[in-house]
Parts: sequence; structure tokens; C-alpha cells
Amino acid sequence: MEWKKSHRLYKRACELIPGGVNSPVRAFRAVGGNPVFIDRAKGSKIYDVDGNAYIDYVLSWGPLILGHSHPKVVNSLKKAAEKGTSYGAPTPLEIELAELVLKVYPSMDKIRMVNSGTEATMSAIRVARGFTGRDKIIKFEGCYHGHADGLLVKAGSGATTFGVPDSPGVPKSYAKNTITLPFNDTAALHSVIKNEWKSVACVIIEPVVGNIGCVLPKPGFLESLRKLTKKFGIVLIFDEVMTGFRVAFGGAQAYYGIRPDMTCLGKVIGGGLPVGAYGGKKEIMSMVSPEGPVYQAGTLSGNPLAMTAGIETLRILSGKNIYKKLESTGALLEEGLADAARKAGVKTRFYRAGTMFCTYFTDTDVIDYKTAKTSDTARFSRFFSAIIKRGIYIAPSQFEAGFISLAHTEKDIEKTVKAAYESLVEIK
Ligand SMILES: *Cc1c(COP(=O)(O)O)cnc(C)c1O
Repeated sequence: MEWKKSHRLYKRACELIPGGVNSPVRAFRAVGGNPVFIDRAKGSKIYDVDGNAYIDYVLSWGPLILGHSHPKVVNSLKKAAEKGTSYGAPTPLEIELAELVLKVYPSMDKIRMVNSGTEATMSAIRVARGFTGRDKIIKFEGCYHGHADGLLVKAGSGATTFGVPDSPGVPKSYAKNTITLPFNDTAALHSVIKNEWKSVACVIIEPVVGNIGCVLPKPGFLESLRKLTKKFGIVLIFDEVMTGFRVAFGGAQAYYGIRPDMTCLGKVIGGGLPVGAYGGKKEIMSMVSPEGPVYQAGTLSGNPLAMTAGIETLRILSGKNIYKKLESTGALLEEGLADAARKAGVKTRFYRAGTMFCTYFTDTDVIDYKTAKTSDTARFSRFFSAIIKRGIYIAPSQFEAGFISLAHTEKDIEKTVKAAYESLVEIK
């Protein structure tokens, strides 16, 4: 496989854009290579500028649950674009997407559209603070909630990969209001809430942690979290930007049967266009401007193209047996990869929630940030180099979740498992 054009473009990009990329995780720094520049994508496949084809497990980092360039989404977008790309005034599309989402997420009475996951979490926290009149927030180590100040504390993903858990430029006075706890540690949560509850506005959590790979909540952990926050009047925010419409149609809250007070969405609800959303109970959301005093706004929020892609995506996802199919593709990959690792004699741990998953190169059960970090990242880098050569595109970091789409076929999975086996043997 050759990457001549990609390398040339990367050199040029580096002179113009910091690190040559518009989001740090896209660079291949963690695996010691240069990023592949993309020309186009269709279904489960992505094609680079040198003409190489890959089966894609990044899927734009989560949004493309239908696969790339779904004909229905593309056709609706073409029609929508001809009617105008933005009006800065309300449209029926916003109502339609809001209704589609609220029907499936009964924990939310009202929802506000924004342009990214970062905006969603940042705004939800402001609302929770306004609602409670308290300043502190609790988050969990390794959970990523976007790049807002105060949330970039032990924030997983790019931050973990690059070993800068606390970014320069975040004032200490902001980070001071962020309490960080280990994921899955009910005892620590209990003791902190008992001591600090008077100043805690909210707890924000990724119910399945997708930004240090894929870490599942232990039975009882989310239930305890729900009970404790309710008891002490703390707003519980589920950050379902990644898990929403992904681990189940109704997100992790449906999957685990927990009702948070607020929910953040993004990724899938934009169908590949820039969208985020936050919502919650009526009494909390009535705090949001212009209904209430908490200010939050956006020039392009509720953008007609973004709403159209979201509506079309959710409509398709609401079809019969869609999540059954996604689950069976996920299970097939899980079985195949476990088998490949066993045959190759490489110790791994594999975790999956629906169509998000991660293989860790460790012999330790991964339950939180600390145990995720036991993974052998040098070995992961070698695995990455070996498998991309075989036409399989995975995230260039150990600490990212992989994703499967509706477009992934049994044949894709077979090819992937074969490539994984060969790669594991090569790097052993
Ligand atoms: C991706 C992600 C975000 C940030 O969303 P952006 O659209 O990248 O700003 C926030 N929270 C979680 C859980 C995410 O996975």
C-alpha cells in the first residue's frame, strides 16, 4: 500500500494547520505515522487520495451509523440545500427532529439544538448550575465531554493519548470547580457526594465510556449514581453524545434502564452533519433563554441541512429490526476477534456495547481509566500499522472506541477478522 499523495498533502497541511489536522485525534501521532487523506466514502468503505480502499471502523468517530453517504440522506440533503442552507429563523424541521428524539428519550421533556457535542455539554452544565445555584461539577476519570474549560480534566481520548490530562490555557480557577472520580467506584462517589453535595450542581457521565476505548458500567453503578444524585438534589447529566442512538435506539439510558435529569446528544443525531443537542426535565429546561434566564445561543443552531440529515437518519434507524441487525453484526465481530486473538496467542480484553467496541492489549479487566492504561500501547501501534496495510481503518489510538454501521456486511466482518488475525501474528 502506498501513501505518496497523503504524505505530500500532510506536509502542506502542517504548514497551514496546527499539526496538519483540524482535530488532534486525526493525526497518527499516537501510532507514529502520517494521517491518510480521504477522497470519498461509501457504505462501509472509505477511500484515500492514493486510491487505497479500507473497511471503516472510525465512521467519522461515531456519527455514521448508517454507513457513509446513505442514498436517502444524500437525496434529502440535496433537496434541502436547494431550498436554502440557513435562515436564522425557525423551521418545521427543528420540530420534527425534536419530536423524533423526545419520543425515544422519555427522560427529556424539552430539547435545544446546538452545533456540536462540546456545545451540548457546556450548555447543559451551565443550565444545571443555573437551576441549582451551585458551582461544582463531578466528572469521571477518562470521560470526555468535549473541550470546554473545566471539562478538560482527566478527559480521556486525545488528552489521554497525548498525556496532557489538564490542558494549558484552562485557568486553575475553572478546574477547581471540577471534582474527578474513578469510573465504577461507587464508594468514592458516595463519600464525595455526602461531603460536598451542598456545592455540587451536577454529575456528568458517559454511561458507557467511549473515550478511553469502551468501558462498561458495573451492575449497580449507574443505579447508585441515580439514587445518590436524586437524594441530594444534584442534576444527573448523561453525556450520550456517543452512546445516543448507538448502544440502543434509546441510548444507554434505555439499555440500562436509568432516567437522568438531563441528556446530551450529538454524533448520530446529526447524521454526519454538525449537530449537538441537550435536553431534560421541563423544570430544568425552562431555565434556558428566552424562556428562562440562562443564556445560550447559536447562529447556525437547528440548521436546516443538519436537521434534515438527522431526521432522515433517525427515520431509518426507527425501522424494524435495525438494532437487531446492528447487534448481530457486533456479536459476529466480537466472536471473530476473540477467536483471532486466541489463535494468535495474544492476550487481549474486548468490550462492546451494541456497535461500539474496543480491544485492549492487556491481561487486566478494564473497568476504569487506570485499568485502561494497563494496555500495551506500543503493541497497539504495531497492530495499527499491520492492519491498516490490510485495508482495515481503525482509530489511530488505543483509547478510542471502534464503530460498526448498518452498511457493514458479514463479508466485511470476515475480512476484518482475517486481517486482525494476520496482524496479531505479525506483531507477536
Ligand atoms: C464526541 C464527544 C463529545 C464532543 O462532541 P464534539 O461534537 O466533538 O464537540 C462529547 N462527549 C462525548 C461523550 C463524545 O463522545
